[in-house]
Amino acid sequence: MATKSIPKVGFISLGCPKATVDSERILTRLRADGYEIAADYAGADLVVVNTCGFIDAAIEESLDAISEALDEHGRVVVTGCLGARGDMIREAHPDVLAVTGPHAEDAVLEAVHAHLPAPDYNPFVDLMPPQGIKLTPDHFAYIKISEGCNHRCSFCIIPSLRGDLVSRPIGSVLDEAHRLVEAGVRELLVISQDTSAYGVDLRYQADFWNGKRLTTDIESLARSLGELQAWIRLHYVYPYPQVDRLIPLMADELILPYLDMPLQHGNPSVLKAMRRPAATEKVLDRLAEWRRICPELALRSTFIVGFPGETDADFEQLLAFLSEAQLDRVGCFSYSAVAGAAANALADPVPEALKEERRQRFMALQAEISRDKLAQRVGSREIVLVDEVHEEQVIARSYADAPEIDGTVIIDGAWELEPGNFIEVEFMASGEHDLFAAPVT
Ligand code: SF4
Repeated sequence: MATKSIPKVGFISLGCPKATVDSERILTRLRADGYEIAADYAGADLVVVNTCGFIDAAIEESLDAISEALDEHGRVVVTGCLGARGDMIREAHPDVLAVTGPHAEDAVLEAVHAHLPAPDYNPFVDLMPPQGIKLTPDHFAYIKISEGCNHRCSFCIIPSLRGDLVSRPIGSVLDEAHRLVEAGVRELLVISQDTSAYGVDLRYQADFWNGKRLTTDIESLARSLGELQAWIRLHYVYPYPQVDRLIPLMADELILPYLDMPLQHGNPSVLKAMRRPAATEKVLDRLAEWRRICPELALRSTFIVGFPGETDADFEQLLAFLSEAQLDRVGCFSYSAVAGAAANALADPVPEALKEERRQRFMALQAEISRDKLAQRVGSREIVLVDEVHEEQVIARSYADAPEIDGTVIIDGAWELEPGNFIEVEFMASGEHDLFAAPVT
């Protein structure tokens, strides 16, 4: 009998963790349809590029990736955030086979099927892992609870790319989380554009999981996820009142005492021009109250400096906010215009050199805060999660460190450990980003 060759799809995944989850879903469905995933251009019959279109640098990176795939291979399907701007892609690269938008799995699958027919295939005989295909290491996984966003921040084009908030029913999220933990995942990172708004669009409708009636809201989700044998970490949480109800779950160790809360600025008039929800004073009050309930709460945030109209006084107020907020981890970007964003029409742009100067001053202040906060943990003992095991060193993370964006815990020496192990360590020293530890034996 002649051996039928299996069609192979190459895949390039760009962008944020939300795009990574989209890529995982598309790859899982391609495998279920009988395609193989090729490791390089040479082994592929067709290449899918999942793009990012959040800022100009990401758009450029996406267009470069499409260009490389066309040069190296030639048969290219484009999807993802930048796919929402089909005209731009077709103008730059008229030879792409198809362009589909973000979270358009059906359309990508259709385009692949049209240009590379699926094999005659029975998915039930395949050994597809129950957790699907993951692009992260085996011991942690991103879980996306909603798509889109109801806000209209003036610097952001995500709502025009991904639409308004659409939450997944709680039962479906918990099914996926359960499958991932059963498959060995030890940390679940909850992501969305706006995690605290989860369920608003569904009016918090009831759903069933494991025989239990649950409402589709963030507290109910966090509580149910907390019953799984895994670390639960929440990203993209805005300081709405309902977040107050999550802090006791952290104090009770159901979910990690960690919040990734993009605050973007500390001055009310800049926040207003950004059209951000939540006022500064309330945020500081809220943080103080949360820390009273859960003193170990680790807070991560991102900020933008040099937004149009930001005066010296506004920036000084941002620095004062930063000093008072005492956040554990902070990212800072100089404002850059994104094509299609409302903020492009604002007056008084800040000169590039001044933006950069402000960014450096901001980061220098935060470096001191982060260093002091890490130093306070030296001498204490904590459970950490092992990420990498090398011959002479182990890299782990504490509850306060999300993968890739925060710091690490470095354990020198050769230890019989594996990624995904939880171990108790004592912190021996600290730097600006990382902690240095020894296992408690
Ligand atoms: S909250 Fe603002 S910045 Fe975040 S996705 Fe929505 S519109 Fe964009």
